[in-house]
Amino acid sequence: NVRTIPMDLLRSHLTRNFRIYLNQTRQMHLLKSKAYIDSKWVSARSNAVFPVLNPADDSVITEVPDMEAADAKLAIEVAFDTFKSWKEVTAKERSKILRRWFDICEQNSDYLAEIITAESGKPLAEAKGEVAYGNSFLDWFADCARHINGEVVPSPWPNKQIILTRQPLGVVSIITPWNFPFAMITRKVGALMAAGCTCVIKPSEDTPLSALAAVELAEKAGVPKGVINVVTTSRKNAPAVGSVMCEDDNVQCISFTGSTAVGKILYGQAAKGVKRVSLELGGNAPFIVFPSADLEHTLNQAMLAKFRNNGQACIGANRFLVHEDVYDKFVTGFKELIAKKCILGPGTQEGVTCGPLINIEQAKKVSGLVENAISNGARPLIGGEFATDLGNKFYKSTLLVDVKPEMKIFNEEIFGPVVQVLKIKSEEEALAIANNTRTGLAAYVFTKDLGQAFRMSRKLDFGMVGINDGIISGAEAAFGGIKESGIGREGSLHGALEYTDIKYTLMSGL
Ligand code: NAD
Repeated sequence: NVRTIPMDLLRSHLTRNFRIYLNQTRQMHLLKSKAYIDSKWVSARSNAVFPVLNPADDSVITEVPDMEAADAKLAIEVAFDTFKSWKEVTAKERSKILRRWFDICEQNSDYLAEIITAESGKPLAEAKGEVAYGNSFLDWFADCARHINGEVVPSPWPNKQIILTRQPLGVVSIITPWNFPFAMITRKVGALMAAGCTCVIKPSEDTPLSALAAVELAEKAGVPKGVINVVTTSRKNAPAVGSVMCEDDNVQCISFTGSTAVGKILYGQAAKGVKRVSLELGGNAPFIVFPSADLEHTLNQAMLAKFRNNGQACIGANRFLVHEDVYDKFVTGFKELIAKKCILGPGTQEGVTCGPLINIEQAKKVSGLVENAISNGARPLIGGEFATDLGNKFYKSTLLVDVKPEMKIFNEEIFGPVVQVLKIKSEEEALAIANNTRTGLAAYVFTKDLGQAFRMSRKLDFGMVGINDGIISGAEAAFGGIKESGIGREGSLHGALEYTDIKYTLMSGL
């Protein structure tokens, strides 16, 4: 494992793959190897670094600072000082700055996509899609900045007025995952900047480079010094850095996207200081198919809902519940599409549609869930093993049948390219199975029966429901889950309001 080899040996690995990659891809100016505090590219106080690996071949892309609690504290101080001036900047000016950031990211979208592919492994075409998706939040929140309005409420008392205004919360701590390393930054930072907040970001240790590239472009767009700060840290130091980011008195809000397990830790830490939280956590999305559905359309949407980012998406379809009348056709069609469209390989290779899993732990988790299901009676119709010729993180796209609701795989977020299909007999059965989970992020329903569509939307205990659609996220939509999938919304005007508080002023003597 390259993570555990001594640093001098590691540096010698900073040779072939890394340099060939950079020469091929011209994006040197966006590839940063330092953290970013107060508009300065800085090392950790300890000077420690950790490697960022390309998951396709384990080559080292670069090293970044392995920061600790004291570095995070400094970044928070900077964000806190900056908040005093940034909150006085007019909404119009904040909007202009966000718009410039959007423009410059658009101009650099190819370079950004190459960085995303290098560190996350996703195919280049998907990385370009992520840049467009991520940019759409900057575009949207540039508009939103000028629409965060207050209210004047008729007062019950003579000669007085009740005025409600929106004020920015202050410093926001942002902790993000590796699966959408650019879009998770813009979705949060666009919103909080529109509201007038400042931030400290701790990106995933697997994918810090996309965040660093995004802030390099933010600086070029004129985002003032200290508004955005980035602290990079290894997994080892993440808990210590995370607790400062949650508990420091100068932080007012914690905005986290990641697993439910880590979300619960951060929620507990935030509670100590009665901080606001925005938590976007794990899911276990049902994808329900009824007999009236247009099967060809449903299968195409199923491919998108499942295999986007090789199954590593929080709203990825996890449990396929298919009515017995269409079950056989659905399973046969799905298998054919997987065989035809899932082309496994490094994300930079032309024609590849499914890249590697992000790291060895994730690869073991996915294969372990499949093995457990098979040993309990499930059958793979395709896949069910690693493509060992490609390396230890390339798992073949898999379709499992004869899955039972009590199996481990059915009750966990797979986060990989595995389809599991369960036969259902009725709407009631589908609802009972779908709702039997502590998560509640996204659900999908395919039907041509309008009444059934509305009923399902109302009765599904999920924060988001896609009716006849497998791709539901967008900057204008309020993204978020219920139950253990999280608290709060991202995107839409609600996404910006998450970073505001209401101030009530009573004007007397009017
Ligand atoms: P993760 O929870 O393991 O890590 C997320 C981040 O938390 C990383 O930056 C990590 O370094 C940090 N972290 C880990 N332990 C920490 C601690 N004790 N204190 C502070 N920070 C800590 O998640 P992941 O593996 O990076 O991402 C996959 C998960 O993210 C999945 O469960 C997925 O569903 C979820 N996710 C949710 C959404 C959403 O919008 N709901 C979007 C993308 C991903």
